[in-house]
Amino acid sequence: MGKVLVIGCGGVAQVAIQKCAQNDAVFDEICIASRTVSKCDDLKAKIETQGKSHSKITTAKVNADSVDELIALIKSVKPDVVLNLALPYQDLTIMDACLACGVHYVDSANYEPEDTEDPKWRAIYEKRCKELGFTAYFDYSWQWAYQKKYKDAGIIAILGTGFDPGVTSVFSAYALKHYFDEIHTIDILDCNGGDHGYPFATNFNPEINLREVSANGSYWENGHWVETKPMEIKREYNFEQVGMKDMYLLHHEEIESLAKNIPGVKRIRFFMTFGQSYLTHMKCLENVGMLRTDPVMFEGKEIVPIQFLKALLPDPASLGPRTVGKTNIGCIYTGTKDGKKRAIKIYNVCDHQECYKEVGSQAISYTTGVPAMIGTMMVMTGQWKGAGVFNVEEFDPDPYMEALNKWGLPWVVDENPVMVD
Ligand code: NDP
Repeated sequence: MGKVLVIGCGGVAQVAIQKCAQNDAVFDEICIASRTVSKCDDLKAKIETQGKSHSKITTAKVNADSVDELIALIKSVKPDVVLNLALPYQDLTIMDACLACGVHYVDSANYEPEDTEDPKWRAIYEKRCKELGFTAYFDYSWQWAYQKKYKDAGIIAILGTGFDPGVTSVFSAYALKHYFDEIHTIDILDCNGGDHGYPFATNFNPEINLREVSANGSYWENGHWVETKPMEIKREYNFEQVGMKDMYLLHHEEIESLAKNIPGVKRIRFFMTFGQSYLTHMKCLENVGMLRTDPVMFEGKEIVPIQFLKALLPDPASLGPRTVGKTNIGCIYTGTKDGKKRAIKIYNVCDHQECYKEVGSQAISYTTGVPAMIGTMMVMTGQWKGAGVFNVEEFDPDPYMEALNKWGLPWVVDENPVMVD
């Protein structure tokens, strides 16, 4: 049916690409590109050796910080869709290149600058902190600003098709379509009950992950943001097939888009589970300056502490064989239907070892990579169409929900859920 160009070949992309190759009726050509082309070649060889896919696979080298390099690549590959699974730092350059070439764009995480000390970016950021009331480094304003340009060009950009954001956002559209006249509260609960046996490791890109969890928390209530200290709000929750876990309130990007796209919603919160050992390690690294994102001089050379830390930590893509246990990620909704109050939970449970058996990755990469493929498929097949910049909850959720069941992330609706106080 069509050709996808995937930028990035890390933990998430490895799953998304293997899923595209499984779905060869839709993805008959896949080009994999990143700065380290040997990684892309290894994945191509792995898929071809298995001999199960009819997708034609090619690889290329690209530095996605360069719009010119991206344009040259897109012009030579001629994809129908570009799937951005590099880092949030590259979102804007890849969006610019797609715009210049008139090609659809899909990603899984919103824009964040690599250097948060850059004075030009910082001035806009500080204004936004004051105006909107949350201090996270990432927000949708940068990408939503492309709305008119994408609309005028007649192309589509789909933002945030991972699990959270992504599946949690589609769950919200599905709840609104089938279970509620009005949704009043949304609690997004992200539980990783997996154990990789290391004293400390992150399940996806350490730099992005540690920036996110060491930042202030925040939630949306009655039309504005309420900000908390990092890890200030803690709850316990008994997760189906995982058990009792401590979870902490974080700022998370889908809160921003759901607040805009779910009419009448009064409160949106996001919780993620963490063990005490993870939190103690993180606090210690933060206290000694290892989470800093600005360059420091070391023996006559500039280094960024968090990037140095990344080089020391286990590669998230290597956790697959060691990780046992399950993830349970989903959302609890309250609201009204036909004048009566109602509460439901929609969630998915994913087993780390089952993912490893299927694609050689742990469940965090799997639960992000599968929806990345599905979001791209929605564009490729025209099941989701339009011109402009969209978040996933703005489309009909039904074909996406069906695809989740088919492609490895089956979901459950619980009409009598345990609530979070
Ligand atoms: P990794 O660090 O494992 O992989 C990142 C990939 O991007 C690497 O292949 C890297 O390859 C490539 N890359 C980085 N910089 C550039 C560049 N300048 N040019 C070209 N390629 C580049 O990250 P993950 O796979 O863990 O995460 C990928 C994305 O998924 C991130 O944006 C992350 O935030 C998002 N994510 C979303 C989730 C969700 O649920 N929505 C959950 C988890 C992650 P190389 O260095 O060779 O260039």
